[in-house]
Amino acid sequence: MPIGRWRGLRQKIRRARKVLSYFHLQTPRDFMIVTQFLGLTLWETVKLRLRNRRTVTCSCCGWTGNVFWPVYWVEQIERNARCPRCYAEQRHRLVWRYLCERWELGGLPPARVLHVSPERGIQAALKASPGVRYVAVDLTADPLAAATDARMDITALAFADQVFDVIICNHVLEHIPDDRRAMAELRRVLKDGGYAIVMVPIMDIPQTVEYGRADPREWDHVRRYGRDYLLRLVEAGFQVTVDNYAYELPDAVVTREALYREPIFVVRKGPQHLPGVVGALPDRLPWQPTDEK
Ligand SMILES: [Zn+2]
Repeated sequence: MPIGRWRGLRQKIRRARKVLSYFHLQTPRDFMIVTQFLGLTLWETVKLRLRNRRTVTCSCCGWTGNVFWPVYWVEQIERNARCPRCYAEQRHRLVWRYLCERWELGGLPPARVLHVSPERGIQAALKASPGVRYVAVDLTADPLAAATDARMDITALAFADQVFDVIICNHVLEHIPDDRRAMAELRRVLKDGGYAIVMVPIMDIPQTVEYGRADPREWDHVRRYGRDYLLRLVEAGFQVTVDNYAYELPDAVVTREALYREPIFVVRKGPQHLPGVVGALPDRLPWQPTDEK
């Protein structure tokens, strides 16, 4: 076999292994679930070709169809989740809808946006927005993730102070061992008067539990945030707004766009925004602790 082809094959194998590592395959049960997941995705695609009833709509890209693709999580499959066109999932569609409706600077204005560990659906929608100057960064290059402009550690951002109007950093901090350092960095690069969306999964527990290492059975999270997450943000010098926008949306919209109902955390800085919390967490959070840590 010529050397070039051999190298190409090796690259393909490496890529396939990276893709497989995404599924955290460890037990025969994992293989079974992934096979089921791939079969379900194929079946949904076939069904879409045969009969498109247009019952769901993607708020990120406008795609409509019978049902969204399933997504695979550790040991479980979630149906009606990922947009086949832009790959936006429930939370991504919620955030994009929120940005469009509640963008406080007034309907997608000229803004410098930093997107940490970007979600593909939101990225595509942001890039298509006129006036948005967009930068995406991530620590690792995931073959299944969206493209980034630079590899960067969120605890040491290579940006000057106060350069971004908007920062989107969702479901990132629970992966960062020194999350307080990351919060300080986000605050540093955020303009006075700017805002950041910093959603994390908050379990319905009062105190955050630190694992001390990444837990592969929990999507490599290094901690389980509790209701005291808001306090950490305040301690980092932010004013936190808990926006229960998703709970105020009509059921019909939530169903049509297949959105998650979870609180949105918006943080601001600057002289007019004193550290503190505006709004309150809903009584019942979507994530319930299922096991003892
Ligand atoms: Zn879409």
